[in-house]
Amino acid sequence: MTKDNAKDNLMEKIVSLCKRRGFVFPSSEIYGGVGGVWDFGPMGVLLKNNIKNLWWKKFVQHRNDIVGLDGSIIMNPTVWKASGHIESFTDPLVECRNCHSRYREDHLIDGRYVGEGKAKKKNQCPNCGKVEFTNPRNFNMMFQTHIGPAEDTSSITYLRPETAQSMFTDFKQILEISRKKLSFGIAQIGKAFRNEITYGNFFFRSREFEQMEIEYFVKPGTDEKWFTYWLSEWKKFIVELGINKNKLRFYEHPKESLSHYSKRTVDIEYEFTFGWSELTGTANRTDYDLRQHEKFSGRDLTYFDEENAKRYHPFVIEPTMGVDRMMLAVLIDAYDENKEGEVFLRLDPKISPIKAAIMPLVKKEKLPEIAQEIFNELKEYWFVQYDDGGSIGRRYRRQDEIGTPFCITVDFETPKNQSVTIRHRDSMKQERIKIKDIKCFIEEKLK
Ligand code: ATP
Repeated sequence: MTKDNAKDNLMEKIVSLCKRRGFVFPSSEIYGGVGGVWDFGPMGVLLKNNIKNLWWKKFVQHRNDIVGLDGSIIMNPTVWKASGHIESFTDPLVECRNCHSRYREDHLIDGRYVGEGKAKKKNQCPNCGKVEFTNPRNFNMMFQTHIGPAEDTSSITYLRPETAQSMFTDFKQILEISRKKLSFGIAQIGKAFRNEITYGNFFFRSREFEQMEIEYFVKPGTDEKWFTYWLSEWKKFIVELGINKNKLRFYEHPKESLSHYSKRTVDIEYEFTFGWSELTGTANRTDYDLRQHEKFSGRDLTYFDEENAKRYHPFVIEPTMGVDRMMLAVLIDAYDENKEGEVFLRLDPKISPIKAAIMPLVKKEKLPEIAQEIFNELKEYWFVQYDDGGSIGRRYRRQDEIGTPFCITVDFETPKNQSVTIRHRDSMKQERIKIKDIKCFIEEKLK
């Protein structure tokens, strides 16, 4: 098998595992689904929540200089005029003159479609193979909707394409309420929507997705220093999730392709099965957004620096990452098979959806009752599963596939000496411990 085939194959296996075990599947599938929109099933929602919780804990709970926000998805439409999104949040859309399929021109040019369908080289239509496209027109990626009962131009508004803007519009209020001084940040986890022309690579590029963003307000002149700091914090967090650091690299955006608000942007890319692609971004948004919102709202959005008796617009460093993309990278990184073709998700226990499975060896001799008691105790702390179906080997396989790090077996010795075996997913080693020590054992492993 060639290297490319192996990678395609790996993605197919991950797609199939995600569907089979309830991580991710197409939204409203009974009606044929919707392009670029996904549902996260029972395992997916746990994995996603674990990633989000770790992020929140590290960047909000553990820090004194960052506070949280849960801003609205629908905002006053003037926000998007001020932010520049109505004018500039566009992709160049071209249409194939032969089959009328639509693509992003920049993706045709950089060869992103090569290998898809009939596209053997750059600039070739993946659907029909022709190289004849209309001139590009700017396509705005914001989803438009109407607020209130009248569907006229005065009621037009948008679903937010990034969580960032409420952190700018609420900046002054939050600064005052939380009595913070620079440097300080606002953090938010929430949904964002982009009408992507070409979605795909499973849920890598979706039309509805979640972001974890920080807007970090700093004194002008210290922005370069904070930019470097946040880039490094971002990388550390990704590695803490268990992602192989050799599959990460930095990509510095050239000056000419920076977004309208950015002085500098550096992405962290991950080597996905389909190639190196953006996992996260860090941008120096300067004082662009605060100044724009001040201009459009007429409200003062400056900061008074008491120490230097000066008033100014803070600069903003924005480290941002997609929850969904992070989860896809985590799944690709964790997927493994043994020689027999049995699947293991070698997730870091911190983010595994299920922390432990409790299994009575047989359904008699009081073993189920003891296992149930252990389950009842542990479920107060973590998501755990009680599993008494099928042979113990099959039960291990089921847990390995969803990344459960520990399987706890209640066997014939348990009633005699109050001990169980704990089987480790990665080493497959088994050790015997007392029932009373199980909680501490798991706690220790999750640190
Ligand atoms: P891309 O270049 O891939 O279109 P972007 O540079 O426009 O992404 P940002 O605006 O920097 O993305 O968004 C911040 C983060 O949100 C990205 O690093 C990515 O993790 C995530 N993200 C952006 N667009 C999507 C999408 N369509 N689907 C899933 N995640 C996304």
